Amino acid sequence: MKRYLVIGNPIDHSLSPKLHNYWIKQNNLDAVYDKKSINEDGLKEIINNLKNDNVSGINITVPFKKTVIPFLDVLTPLAKETDSVNTIYKKENQIIGDNTDIIGFERSLKHINYSAKGKKAFILGAGGVAPSIICALKKIGISKITLSNRTRDKAKILKNKYTDLNLINWGETINSDIIINATSLGLQENDEIKLDYSKIGVNKLFYDVIYNPRKTKFLVNAKKFGNKIENGKYMFIYQAQLAFEIWHNIKPKIDAKVLGLLEND
Ligand code: NDP
Repeated sequence: MKRYLVIGNPIDHSLSPKLHNYWIKQNNLDAVYDKKSINEDGLKEIINNLKNDNVSGINITVPFKKTVIPFLDVLTPLAKETDSVNTIYKKENQIIGDNTDIIGFERSLKHINYSAKGKKAFILGAGGVAPSIICALKKIGISKITLSNRTRDKAKILKNKYTDLNLINWGETINSDIIINATSLGLQENDEIKLDYSKIGVNKLFYDVIYNPRKTKFLVNAKKFGNKIENGKYMFIYQAQLAFEIWHNIKPKIDAKVLGLLEND
């Protein structure tokens, strides 16, 4: 039986095992997908499990998407560009690090028929997921990206890489077509992002990478002001679908049951 894992810290909240095990069963594969909480000093041992074929694939989540990189042999171009790895596997005796968050985000926009081409984006956050969102928006042909992060130095590091990023202070608002919450602010019920919604106007797309809770205050407020809203559910599903395809060479179905698996949590 092949074994797959998602590692992170904390990891309890992860719905990846539910999703992957559903697809494993649906496709009659002899495999199992678990979650494991580790500390940074446990990364080497986990990757060794992949080298020794005790594990066949690993998903990486907060906070190890970058710190895992030194333990890998090869990065795919997308993982290299974003310095972020969420999917690992062994190929021809080498440990490969890939990033499926970028395509996950891109496909989630396609799913809702949203074209970001030529539009202006405003990203809140400069953590691990931010470079994947920037990379996806650039691939699609966004015209301008403004970014704001509580810790400005982290935003500056991103600007070193993406020099055309427009940085503004945390708490400031800029009128944009698509406004993305890429922070973890919203995971807790009382979390609120200070934004001047009236400055942004109506009929814009507010996108929260968080999918649990389903409607953060960021989305509730945006809706009140007459905007479209989307949470991170489809990004999560599409990144998992691509990881599954990489590991098993099967593109699993995104059906009503898959959506239900995430809704019921
Ligand atoms: P990180 O921990 O790397 O980054 C956290 C970000 O949130 C930083 O920008 C941080 O700012 C900001 N932040 C945290 N607390 C506060 C606060 N109190 N006030 C202001 N800003 C705050 O996390 P990731 O980037 O990896 O993930 C961010 C979110 O995206 C998580 O909720 C994660 O679950 C979600 N996610 C969803 C995915 C999906 O498929 N839908 C995929 C990947 C992530 P600062 O730099 O100042 O600390």
